[in-house]
Amino acid sequence: MNQSVPLTNLQTRDISSVLHPYTPIHRLGEIGPLVIERGEGVFVYDTQGRDYIEGMSGLWCAGLGFGDEEMIDAATEQLRTLPYYHLFGAKGTESAIELAEKLKEIAPVPMSKVFFTSSGSEANDTQVKLAWYMNNAKGRPNKKKIISRMKAYHGVTVMSASLTGLPYNHIGWDLPVDRVLHTDCPHYYRFGQDGETEQEFLNRIVGSLRDLIEREGPDTIAAMIAEPIMGAGGVIIPPAGYYPAIQALLDEHDIIFISDEVITGFGRTGNWWGSQTVNMRPTTISTAKQLTAAYAPLGAVMVPEDIYQAYVDHSKQIGTFGHGFTYGGHPLGCALGVKAIEIYQKRDIIGHVRSVAPVFEARMKKLTDHPLVGEVRHCGLVGAVELVADKATKRSFDPKKGVGAQCAKFCEENGLIQRAIVDSIAFCPPMIITEAQLNELFDRFEKALAACE
Ligand code: PLP
Repeated sequence: MNQSVPLTNLQTRDISSVLHPYTPIHRLGEIGPLVIERGEGVFVYDTQGRDYIEGMSGLWCAGLGFGDEEMIDAATEQLRTLPYYHLFGAKGTESAIELAEKLKEIAPVPMSKVFFTSSGSEANDTQVKLAWYMNNAKGRPNKKKIISRMKAYHGVTVMSASLTGLPYNHIGWDLPVDRVLHTDCPHYYRFGQDGETEQEFLNRIVGSLRDLIEREGPDTIAAMIAEPIMGAGGVIIPPAGYYPAIQALLDEHDIIFISDEVITGFGRTGNWWGSQTVNMRPTTISTAKQLTAAYAPLGAVMVPEDIYQAYVDHSKQIGTFGHGFTYGGHPLGCALGVKAIEIYQKRDIIGHVRSVAPVFEARMKKLTDHPLVGEVRHCGLVGAVELVADKATKRSFDPKKGVGAQCAKFCEENGLIQRAIVDSIAFCPPMIITEAQLNELFDRFEKALAACE
C-alpha cells in the first residue's frame, strides 16, 4: 500500500488485532490491509468508497455477486424461523432435507446421501474418514492410502492440507501426514518435457500413476481425489482424455474417485459440475463455496447407495456413525443453498455462463500477445494468466521478485481484485457478470499488466 497515504482507523485496528490467512504477514502494513465495506452486484467498495470489480468472486465462491435481495430475504426468513439446529442423533430440519434432495437431483451421477459440513476443508477431511470407515466396514483395514496430485488444493485442515499439493501448505506445518501420496500435476505447459507432445505427456503421467499404484500395492490404496479443474494450484485444465485414462486405472484396482467440486460446482465451468465438463465420473463428491453462493458457510459430501450401505454395516457393529460438525447443515446455510440452486435454475445462470464465456475466452486470448504472458487457461468463467520472464523458454520469474503479487497489487490500484497464485493471476468473476462488465474487468486488468515489468 502507498505509505504516503496515512492508515485509516480501521486499517490500524486491523493490523493490531487480526491474524490474516494466506498473507505475507511480515509485510502486512506494506501491502494492506484493504478493508472492504460493502458489495453490490459484481462490485465491492472499500472504506474510502473506491469500487473494485471482484474478479475472483471473493474466494471463488460469491457466484451470485453481492447484495442479492432474494438471498437476503431467504436468510432473514430462515433466521426468523429457526436460526440454529443440528442433525445429530437423528434430528432433522426442513432446510437440510430440501437441500439434500436438491443436490441429489442435480448430482452428475446417482447419489444416495448427503453429509453436511461447514466448509470445503471439512468436506474433504470427511471424505478421507469415510473412505477409511468404508474399508474398515468392508474388512479391508490396509486399503487406506489416498492419492492426490502435486499443485492440488483441497483445504487446510490437517488431512485436507495433506491432500493439498502445494509447498507452502506443508513446509513449516509438519505435513503431509502419512497415507497421502502425490502424483503428477496434469499441466502440459509447465511439466511437459522438451519435444514431448501433449499425448505423450498424458501417457507419461498416466503411466506414472500406474507405477505408483503398483509400487504401493492397490490393496493399500482407498481413493484418489481430484479437482476436475485445479483451482488454487493455478487453474489447470488437464489434457483431453486424462480423466477417462485415470478412471480406468482406478476402476481396475477398486479405488474410489473423489471429485472435489468445491470451486467447479454450480455452473462455474458451464455445466452444473466440473466433472461433467472434463468427462470425469466421480464415486463421491465434495462441494462448498457456490453451494450457497457464499451467503453463508456450508459444505457437503455426496455418496452413492453402495458406499452408504457400508457405513450402515459399520454403524451396526460399532453402535453409531461417529462423525459430525456442530455447524454441519446449519439451517441458514441450507436455506441459502436451496435458494441459490433455485436461482441458478430459474435465472438460467449456467446458460448465462455459457453465453458470456466466449467474451471471457476472447479477452483472455488477446492477453497472449503481451510479452510477459506465457500461457492463458480458461474454461467457462474460470481462468488464469501465467506470467513468465521468458516466453520462448517458459522461464519463470525469480520467486523473490513477486511478479504475480505485484500484478495483483496493480489490479487493486486499477479497481480490480484478482488473485495471484505465484505468477499466475486467477480469474473467477461472479457468474452474473455481464459482457460489458467482463470487458471492463479486462480493460482494468490490461492497465495493471501494462504496469508490470
Ligand atoms: N477444495 C477446493 C478445490 C478449494 O478450492 C478449496 C478452497 O479454496 C477447498 C477445498 C477448501 O475449502 P474451504 O476454504 O471452504 O475449507
